[in-house]
Amino acid sequence: MTLLRVAAVEKRFGGVRAVDGVSFALAAGEFAALIGPNGAGKSTLFALVAGHQALDAGRVEFAGRDIGRAMPVERARAGIGRTFQTAAAFASMTVRQNVQLALAAHAGELRHAWKTLADRHAEAAQALLGQVGIAALAARPAADLAYADLKRLELAIALAGVPRLLLMDEPTAGMAAGERTALMDLVASIAADQGITVLFTEHGMDVVFGYARRLLVMSRGRLIADGPPAEVRAQPAVQAAYFGEP
Ligand code: ADP
Ligand code: MG
Repeated sequence: MTLLRVAAVEKRFGGVRAVDGVSFALAAGEFAALIGPNGAGKSTLFALVAGHQALDAGRVEFAGRDIGRAMPVERARAGIGRTFQTAAAFASMTVRQNVQLALAAHAGELRHAWKTLADRHAEAAQALLGQVGIAALAARPAADLAYADLKRLELAIALAGVPRLLLMDEPTAGMAAGERTALMDLVASIAADQGITVLFTEHGMDVVFGYARRLLVMSRGRLIADGPPAEVRAQPAVQAAYFGEP
């Protein structure tokens, strides 16, 4: 079943064609990487799918519905989850409160969540923290977390939205090699268990070739290759745009 279909999407920022006519589809259950040099348009493409940027042209369909003009919360409710390139947790809240807030948002309770947050979704939040391996850190302020644990918290926050599709923007950026593997093992096992489709951007080729079963390559706003990782890597255009870089 096709979960996501992106057709001829475009986004310009002034004179920059950040995303320039990109089309692809993801079937339910895929685990795919989106790679390309800095400035290729990867984060902008994620923003177009999640609704954090408005399309200039093209279509985005999710589970058979045209969602290309829907608000981000509507897309989240439909099952599109996203983790960001830079930390998105609330530093002054505890680790568990961050997840409680995400669960409250998913339940449509944000208006009264602030005053009663302490009681809401505490068990479900704790369970999610257990899933991502940071249950013991639940009562700490998010600001105290080591970087690798913060990335796990962000994963828990995304999972609180019960995504069918998870867009992960550089999930392992800034991590040591061992931490990267641990995080990606975790993401792969959660995705398999819960039937979540994953598209992630990544610069580390160990992670890309260790985990992705499909590789999409962007360069200057365009999708220049899409297929099995080994085949994509061998393509001259990909070599020139990406692997050929010093
Ligand atoms: P990537 O994630 O592949 O590094 P981005 O999607 O962040 O690439 O950026 C693609 C291009 O769009 C870059 O030239 C970048 O400077 C530009 N860009 C991205 N976001 C904005 C924005 N909000 N305003 C203006 N230009 C932007
Ligand atoms: Mg980016």
